[in-house]
Amino acid sequence: MTGSSFTHRHIGPDNSELGRILSLIGADSLDDLARQVVPAGILDGPQDNGLEALPPAASEHEVLAELAALAAENTVATSMIGLGYYDTLTPPVLVRNILENPAWYTAYTPYQPEISQGRLEALLNFQTMVSDLTGMEVANASMLDESTAAAEAMTLLRRAGKSKSPRFVVDSDVFPQTAAVIATRAEPLGIEIVTTDLAQGLPDGDFFGVLLQTPAASGRVIDCTPLIEAAHERGALVAVGADLLALTLIAAPGELGADVCFGTTQRFGVPMGFGGPHAGYLAVHAKHARQLPGRLVGVSKDADGNLAYRLSLQTREQHIRREKATSNICTAQVLLAIIAAMYASYHGADGLRAIASRVHGHARTLAAALRSGGVDVVHDKFFDTVLTSVPGRAAGVVAAAKERGINLRLVDDDHVAIACDEATTADHVSAVRDAFGVDASNAAKDWPEIDSRTSEYLTHPAFNRYRTETAMMRYLRSLADKDIALDRSMIPLGSCTMKLNAAAEMEAITWPTISRLHPFAPAGDVPGMRKIIASLEDWLVAITGYDRVSVQPNAGSQGEYAGLLAIREYHRSRGDSNRTVCLIPSSAHGTNAASAVMAGMRVVVVSCRDNGDVDVDDLRAKVDANAADLAAIMLTYPSTHGVFEDEVGDICAAVHDAGGQVYVDGANLNALVGVARPGRFGGDVSHLNLHKTFCIPHGGGGPGVGPIGVREHLAPFLPGHPLADELPGDLTISGAPYGSASILPITYAYIRMMGAEGLREATLTAIASANYIAARLNDSYPVLYTGAGNRVAHECIIDLRPITKSTGVTVDDVAKRLADYGFHAPTMSFPVAGTLMIEPTESENLDEIEAFCDAMISIRAEIDKVADGQWPADDNPLRSAPHTAECLVGDWEHSYDRLVAVYPNGLPSAGARAKVWPAVRRIDGAFGDRNLVCSCPPIEAFA
Ligand SMILES: *Cc1c(COP(=O)(O)O)cnc(C)c1O
Repeated sequence: MTGSSFTHRHIGPDNSELGRILSLIGADSLDDLARQVVPAGILDGPQDNGLEALPPAASEHEVLAELAALAAENTVATSMIGLGYYDTLTPPVLVRNILENPAWYTAYTPYQPEISQGRLEALLNFQTMVSDLTGMEVANASMLDESTAAAEAMTLLRRAGKSKSPRFVVDSDVFPQTAAVIATRAEPLGIEIVTTDLAQGLPDGDFFGVLLQTPAASGRVIDCTPLIEAAHERGALVAVGADLLALTLIAAPGELGADVCFGTTQRFGVPMGFGGPHAGYLAVHAKHARQLPGRLVGVSKDADGNLAYRLSLQTREQHIRREKATSNICTAQVLLAIIAAMYASYHGADGLRAIASRVHGHARTLAAALRSGGVDVVHDKFFDTVLTSVPGRAAGVVAAAKERGINLRLVDDDHVAIACDEATTADHVSAVRDAFGVDASNAAKDWPEIDSRTSEYLTHPAFNRYRTETAMMRYLRSLADKDIALDRSMIPLGSCTMKLNAAAEMEAITWPTISRLHPFAPAGDVPGMRKIIASLEDWLVAITGYDRVSVQPNAGSQGEYAGLLAIREYHRSRGDSNRTVCLIPSSAHGTNAASAVMAGMRVVVVSCRDNGDVDVDDLRAKVDANAADLAAIMLTYPSTHGVFEDEVGDICAAVHDAGGQVYVDGANLNALVGVARPGRFGGDVSHLNLHKTFCIPHGGGGPGVGPIGVREHLAPFLPGHPLADELPGDLTISGAPYGSASILPITYAYIRMMGAEGLREATLTAIASANYIAARLNDSYPVLYTGAGNRVAHECIIDLRPITKSTGVTVDDVAKRLADYGFHAPTMSFPVAGTLMIEPTESENLDEIEAFCDAMISIRAEIDKVADGQWPADDNPLRSAPHTAECLVGDWEHSYDRLVAVYPNGLPSAGARAKVWPAVRRIDGAFGDRNLVCSCPPIEAFA
């Protein structure tokens, strides 16, 4: 083995283990394996794979020093810019026990609810917090940011409303980034945006919906009741953007008649992080629950009748509904939602109200001082943001504040806005007053409070019980103990690439020099951040073979959407606006179809052959049939069937010849880095999931980063941003110019520590391990698809359907039984129903891989006992899995004994693998969907 010392920490198998892996699968070396697996036409050699452009690998400490030096170039000013991003004081108990705790950040989306009860409970708290504060019955968990939540609110109103009008009214006082994201979303869907000052009333004509914000960008707080009533009278629905902290003091939009409420939960303890990640929120009344995009946690019961949580309704919506899905959101912002929820639990209703009153008090003090000093304060009613009119003086005021270490918002030549937040002090207020040239002798007269909230909120015990650090620390530990994250076992989820998230990679994200930067801070404050981003973009260019990269999209789904929009704009720029057909193979991830629809495209499905490959004859037929209108193909490579298809070159050529563009879904880049480059083998654009291949932890379902790489001709259509002149594009995908910028150092560190050799070695080790598992399991469970030489790529699908047919044992039974063995299940029924998709990644050593294979083989033996009739089909350890400690207590009336139930690996005292105790038995999902409860049940329910 070669590469840096870190490479050997990141890659699981050592030399001797790798030797055993290669010998079992019949390859002489990793390079030999590469030649066997990757089609010759696209395979790069170790010296000519583009990675020559990367700097040589460095050690963990060298890279941390390098990042620290870059971060030190940033200036952490006191931020009073506002516009949806506010400084916040993260309670250290949450930093240490959640944000820096792998038990939380290395978990996956809770698709296996029996081993995810901890984060599901935390997310239910999040939903309860949002629905309480907004006065809505149902909130999801969560949205990618505030601006995309607003855009989802728009499309939700269109689906839910009765109006046929294509017009959507947006208040001119919404945040500029939100207006830009909405405008980008609206155009391909044929929605016509009418921007107007709603303070002047509703515009003439028909419209299907209205969107406003309170507090608005200018800080103004309005009573939205008359507007909501007037809109309803005219047959339109209303979405209100609201600041959760303000809602502790002002009336909840849900109680005022709003149909949708949206916003961000950033200021609930989640650092600004130069733009993200943070959790956006979206809440509706119960009648629209089924229209909610994204993930919704619900309450159900388990096989013993105990209360249990799981994702309800839309859980894997895109996979089921594809182009009819309500949105393309897959990865959301779970980790950040959990921090926000715990921030609310830690402070409680009175604590939040006290913080809000302090913030509001600083703003009132400032406004009063400025007005008595002769400065024109524009709005009388505000929460945290004071808008001043200083004709011709605005730049001067902002500069004077900057000298005092404070960033204010320059609205235009004549206006300055000042946003107070949890970190604002009386000294900051004085310094701002000084910057306006108003001296302290102008004794501030009192300014009236906004105080229109009458309803209670956060009365549930979840927001009252954990108010001491001891109680919170133990609560977090007890929740984390219910879940399987990467800190307990491998998570062999195919297509998700659950690899190591190294501690060194995570270090920088909590440094104040990164976490406390406002996304709209002046360029002069953030040179270090810009350098980190620029280097990362360069490295991703080298790795992918594209010409340009944008890191703005907040998840893979958003990258898909951004990439398809780039294709759309490219065609339109050439007068080809008829090119709207998007070919998508039937094996594709559901987000592909959902993204294509969002980008105004029409999906035409291309079938797959029996061997899993794209049916090239069908492809050619569909290309011919749609040649004039062909926009693109979305191709996942290697395919979601886990195979390197030989004909990828032909497929790309057929689409290009017909004038279409090739979108390569880069979710499977963990099989390509250093081995083949999508930008060279036919792709025009790809998204990358930095939270899969590039080590950003999955956070239990987010954050993610979904940058896109494009070839030069698409570069003019990369994302732009209204507040970032350096990004010239016209389309805005996310609220922040660089998306979830604060977690980019994770990927920076990974690439920097691995270097060219390490990255290629990681890829080929991942492929070797997947082939090893395929070989080990093939006798017990047939591997569904293989490519040339009977090889799989970095993941393999095993087929349970014949077993289910002959024994009645289902994929569910196997998945749940794995929990008794202490493992997280593989991906279930994607991309093929009734199968499991296994992806080991390069980070698992041979011991862990063997333990997993042994568990699977042992489960196969259990299945055989059911088949033989030794165990009845309706009473066996598979059907009854998983088993809790509680279920052992009392009478035991099963056909198998307790030892088999809970210690299938043998007893830990005899050296068996550490036991994981699932918190609940098998959960009845359908019951929960029929009896939808998606906020904290009253405490009596726990009795
Ligand atoms: C994960 C995945 C996506 C979606 O990415 P997110 O980051 O979850 O939005 C798309 N395509 C494939 C093949 C994937 O595995």
